[in-house]
Amino acid sequence: MNYRHSYHAGNFADVMKHVVLMALIGALRRKPSPFCVLDTHAGIGLYDLSGAQAQSTGEWREGIGRLLDAPQGSHHAPDVENWLEVIRAVMRDEQAGRLSYPGSPALVARLLRPGDSLICCELHPEDQQALRHLFRHDRNVSVHGRDGYQAITALLPPKQARRGLVFMDPPFERPDEFQRLGTAIMTARQRFPAGIVAGWYPIKHRAPVRAFINGLKDAGQRKLLTLELTLRPPLDPSRLNGSGIIIANPPFRFEEEARGILASLCRYLGDGEADFHVEWAVPE
Ligand code: SAM
Repeated sequence: MNYRHSYHAGNFADVMKHVVLMALIGALRRKPSPFCVLDTHAGIGLYDLSGAQAQSTGEWREGIGRLLDAPQGSHHAPDVENWLEVIRAVMRDEQAGRLSYPGSPALVARLLRPGDSLICCELHPEDQQALRHLFRHDRNVSVHGRDGYQAITALLPPKQARRGLVFMDPPFERPDEFQRLGTAIMTARQRFPAGIVAGWYPIKHRAPVRAFINGLKDAGQRKLLTLELTLRPPLDPSRLNGSGIIIANPPFRFEEEARGILASLCRYLGDGEADFHVEWAVPE
């Protein structure tokens, strides 16, 4: 396991993924009954953007950095504004001199109500320790040092609630990651039909993305919404040209909300070539 998210935290893909994740949790919070979130690839939860790893790539400057540098009074979609409020609050909470950025489990944990729960899986031993430490006082958060894909079979449907979200954000360091993600989406839906299932994928070039989505279609999957934000046309496969999220069983009218989010982000990310698509890969 070579992948360390601290090199990439806060980049444009994280920005897109985290705003969408918060919007999905916002939809779950609209109903009073409790929900459970399974974060299959959780990372360490809180990233130090002033640390050596984040500074060595500087990726965050083209992501969260752009949003923080936006002129005062800039108009963002409400979901982007909500996320920025959390980002600013986390930065204020942290010690002076550090620039902290919350990853997926830290964002979800802040939005849990009494009765809601978060299950995190993180396979890297050091990252898992960091995550356990972060949530040592949170009784509604559990951390598992196990394979997130296996957890889908082992931990779903959740005992804690009848509804919720499975959020999968694998590192894509293995050549078969698209296949593994596709299989995991189908298994998660089978085991937790009422749940929302969301998976992140990289857009380097079109062919692997098309094969991934067609694979799900051919397997008979319905109600699949894709959200894609590209910084530039995805022609050079050696670069991360865009970021995608596939959502199975999305909340009612989420496509409209997602369009608002991506249109808003496109104004700040990329260098004039950014574009987005929100499409039903397969409707109901
Ligand atoms: N979701 C996190 C966020 O948004 O802040 C970032 C996750 S990062 C892209 C992927 C993480 O998955 C890494 O921390 C890596 O160590 C972990 N990982 C890799 N393979 C895994 C597996 N099979 N099960 C659980 N975690 C895994």
